Amino acid sequence: MARIVMKFGGTSMAGSERIRGVAARVKREIDAGNEVAVVVSAMAGETDRLVGFCREASPLADPREYDVVVAAGEQITAGLLAIALQAAGVPARSWLGWQLPIRSSAAHSVARIEGIETDKVLAAMARGEVAVVPGFQGVSDAGRVTTLGRGGSDTSAVALAAALKADRCDIYTDVDGVYTTDPRIVPRARKLERITYEEMLELASVGAKVLQTRSVELAMKEKVRVQVLSSFTDAPGTLVVDEDEDMERELIAGVAYDRNEAKVTLVGVPDVPGVVAKIFGPLADANVNVDMIVQNIAKGEGTTDVTFTVPRTQLPLSLDVLGRERSVINYADVLSDAAVAKISVVGVGMKSHAGVAVTMFRALADRGINIQAITTSEIKVSVLIAEEYVELAVRVLHTAYGLDAAA
Ligand code: ADP
Ligand code: ASP
Ligand code: MG
Repeated sequence: MARIVMKFGGTSMAGSERIRGVAARVKREIDAGNEVAVVVSAMAGETDRLVGFCREASPLADPREYDVVVAAGEQITAGLLAIALQAAGVPARSWLGWQLPIRSSAAHSVARIEGIETDKVLAAMARGEVAVVPGFQGVSDAGRVTTLGRGGSDTSAVALAAALKADRCDIYTDVDGVYTTDPRIVPRARKLERITYEEMLELASVGAKVLQTRSVELAMKEKVRVQVLSSFTDAPGTLVVDEDEDMERELIAGVAYDRNEAKVTLVGVPDVPGVVAKIFGPLADANVNVDMIVQNIAKGEGTTDVTFTVPRTQLPLSLDVLGRERSVINYADVLSDAAVAKISVVGVGMKSHAGVAVTMFRALADRGINIQAITTSEIKVSVLIAEEYVELAVRVLHTAYGLDAAA
């Protein structure tokens, strides 16, 4: 007997037919003698729809009420799956975030799970009942509903698996594993049998949305055995593992892209000590997450240009902050461009190999794709390019690093 957390994403929960399919998969695990808790996402597109209602109601919606609205999608699918399981002869009930409870910070819309009470769920599971838990939601100390950021159901599942000391956390989604890049863009992407936590974390943080970044962080910390699988086929999935588990080491694990960035350039900034602090201090105070930063050398007249990226949704806020600080920073002009994208290559093999970045720069240059900014870490190189070239760049890099599957 194993204790398993199964998580089903939005596409897997989209409609009665698919929910019945999910119930059948859960039933198979119960019939095999396992204890099961299920974490569900809202139906595909539902969270976007609810976010849209909030924006229509007010662009500056109260974040506490925004969470009440957007958490509702998962409440519906949790109840529907419990009904479908019961109809299939499997005892089941739903446990909403506040009923367990799943305690979280009060950072509405980006809350972090702080602890999950498991007594009730464990007792239910021991009775042979499936516990169905809505992903994405928690409850703050003030007793208010919170949400965990987009894609947060993955994190709910891993946190629940850690709290229940589950043997496995199986993430069922609309692809059958983690690939060398998004298989929807590159049909010749290859499925990875295994990937290290470190590489998965980096890939997730640079845009591969198959797992939410925070879920990988948590799995790594709590040593949760995570597997990514398809809701629709029985193909073997991808196991996320520690680096020392026997692995065939490739130089590059994968290529990821992120369209959620926007570029800001401050022109004619005085080239004096303390100026970057004057730029990034107020942005940090406004909770803007600055990502890539490039500062040019001064051209003689004592001024320089500073380019950086911010999340696209935070571009208006960033420009507002910079506008207010104009006389303090003393820049000549501010330019912005939301039509950019970040492309990254990730691999632990980079730690011991030179030349990885050069391969990237050459491959993009050969296609005439201009690089607007660069950042690197020990196992990653990222470049900023015009958004229109995203798909081409991902394909070109996938080929350049020898990742294409045989035709
Ligand atoms: P879910 O609703 O199940 O949480 P998501 O849409 O959040 O599903 O994540 C799955 C999607 O992630 C896939 O449909 C795929 O387009 C995308 N994706 C991006 N990069 C990768 C990758 N390297 N491997 C697999 N899928 C990826
Ligand atoms: N429904 C939420 C979202 O779309 C959470 C999730 O599916 O992981 O972001
Ligand atoms: Mg997801």
